[in-house]
Amino acid sequence: MVTMKTKIHVLPEELCNKIAAGEVVERPSSVVKELLENSLDAGSTDILIELEAGGKRLIRITDNGCGMSRQDAFLSFERHATSKIRTDADLFALTTLGFRGEALASIASVSRLRLKTCDNDDGLGQQIYAEGGRIKNVDELGLPQGTVVEVRNLFFNLPARKKFLRKEQTELGHAADVVTKQALANPGVSFRLKHNDRIILDLRREKGLRERVAALLGRSLLRDLLPIEQQNGDDLQLSGLISQPQLTRSAASHIYTFINGRYIRDRVVQHAVMEGYRHLLMKGRYPVVVLFLQIDPAQVDVNVHPTKHEVRFREQSLVHDFIANSLQQTLRPAEWLERETFDSSANEVGNYLSERQDHMVKQENGVSANSFVSESSAQYVPPVGHFQNNIATESTTQQFYPSPPFSQLGSEDQSAIGTQYILPESEEAGFFSRLQILGQYHQSYLLCQDGADLIMIDQHAAHERVGFEKLRHAYAAGTIPSQTLLFPEVLELDFNSAAALGDNQHELESLGFEIEPFGGKSFALKAIPQLLENRDAARLVVDVALELERIGRTGQLRESIDEILILMACHSVIRANQALAVIEIRALFQELDKIDFKANCPHGRPVMQRITLAEVERLFRRQ
Ligand code: ADP
Ligand code: MG
Repeated sequence: MVTMKTKIHVLPEELCNKIAAGEVVERPSSVVKELLENSLDAGSTDILIELEAGGKRLIRITDNGCGMSRQDAFLSFERHATSKIRTDADLFALTTLGFRGEALASIASVSRLRLKTCDNDDGLGQQIYAEGGRIKNVDELGLPQGTVVEVRNLFFNLPARKKFLRKEQTELGHAADVVTKQALANPGVSFRLKHNDRIILDLRREKGLRERVAALLGRSLLRDLLPIEQQNGDDLQLSGLISQPQLTRSAASHIYTFINGRYIRDRVVQHAVMEGYRHLLMKGRYPVVVLFLQIDPAQVDVNVHPTKHEVRFREQSLVHDFIANSLQQTLRPAEWLERETFDSSANEVGNYLSERQDHMVKQENGVSANSFVSESSAQYVPPVGHFQNNIATESTTQQFYPSPPFSQLGSEDQSAIGTQYILPESEEAGFFSRLQILGQYHQSYLLCQDGADLIMIDQHAAHERVGFEKLRHAYAAGTIPSQTLLFPEVLELDFNSAAALGDNQHELESLGFEIEPFGGKSFALKAIPQLLENRDAARLVVDVALELERIGRTGQLRESIDEILILMACHSVIRANQALAVIEIRALFQELDKIDFKANCPHGRPVMQRITLAEVERLFRRQ
């Protein structure tokens, strides 16, 4: 006789829910996200979010939406129970944020959940209490129309998961992120976020996106944001606010993209946004963008990922190009693209164009080759690509090898350099001081001669490098010298940046900043590092806050301090597109000579490129 032994068995419902919860509920902020989506789907115009201990102890969301009947209230605890879709065709015509019918069941299975809901004006509602997904208690009670979902002790029955939760402030930060995203997408809805009885966000109903952005990200941003409004047939529409190129962030965290009202973090969309800003931003800088794409729901599948953060487009490249082109069109007619505006007042703006360090050499070579043709079309024009390759491959390996002193007849000139040759400083001087200065190219690059070689120095990168070394030394020696501002400047920040600044007051002092809380998410900037005198320190503080926020999440401030010093150096330096007098170049070179170039370069960008005589000769077909 054969005994049938089965190895496979069907899992009990409760365990299934726990497994499903693993996909959707990672931390308190995931609960906030799901509950907010439900409240918004229910048509709420007023939503209160209350958290305790970063949401680890309590998450309570109160809305004034349509509420649920007694029967629906029971059903809402079931997995795959939803009022939002019926057939698979509905999956491709979604107009709601939720549709999987999983969130409530999942959340209930890993918490103590109380649902209070009322779907009528009569004031009689239902209350259901469940522990670990098991309904323990049901009663009727008087309630206004709407729903309250209270989630206590998240993961009380999943200790392994609970261990992964971070400290209160970090979890709160994630939750605030979620609220920020929903609030941006729904300016007509009021949101209040309370933490341990303290109001963190208080967002009134607004008529439009601008006011909502001001309330969330700081009013001062508005002057640098452009409205965008583009359309491609009936099926594709793009609207929102995008930053002018001079307003950037050190992280992509202020790129908010929404598809049909749903926040998404999609690779294709992200790429398209950056493509829209191509050539306008420095490497490592990101715009501030709040962008809404409306697309025929049949053209996009949001059922790719349990948290619905990723999507799949039916026509990926069409959407990509539409977004990129729309941004370009909005940015292009603007004044900062006109070269004529590159005077000193527009310097900061112009810089962003000239920061295209990588493309610069290539592009300018292209330009000169072209003008060469127009002047004398009979002349042979060397293939530009060939020249570029030489620079890129050979000279990068030849950086910073001092060569023997070299001198040649010429005269020293103390004014801005013209075409004259400027002799090296002295025979004993360091490598840079010994260079023979030939001139300045495009107000961005210093051309020098070292022996028979042509040396090009990126003046911005060089200054940045020098600034970084100074800061690093000052920081290592104790404190970066600071300078009190005559008139403190008030900074408005978003919640997470404000929290990061608040948490790092002490560290900021040793970086040379004095910053005091100024109510809500505002701070008064009272002193700045001396090195930043006459620079836009407020903008730097915003960057530093972002960096602190990022570091805070990994908890490695000490190790990451270089990142912040780099940021500061970047803000402190003379930008490209600036005429330099010889005396200034000399001073820069002396500073460069003090630097140990064997150390890592801050941005990893070369300060200098060497082009050998042989390369030049090849270019002119002399070899
Ligand atoms: P889904 O949102 O995917 O439908 P959920 O598990 O999040 O699934 O919610 C199940 C159902 O419970 C929803 O379809 C909706 O009918 C109802 N529901 C949940 N939250 C609310 C709320 N705040 N107000 C009104 N109805 C709600
Ligand atoms: Mg839902």
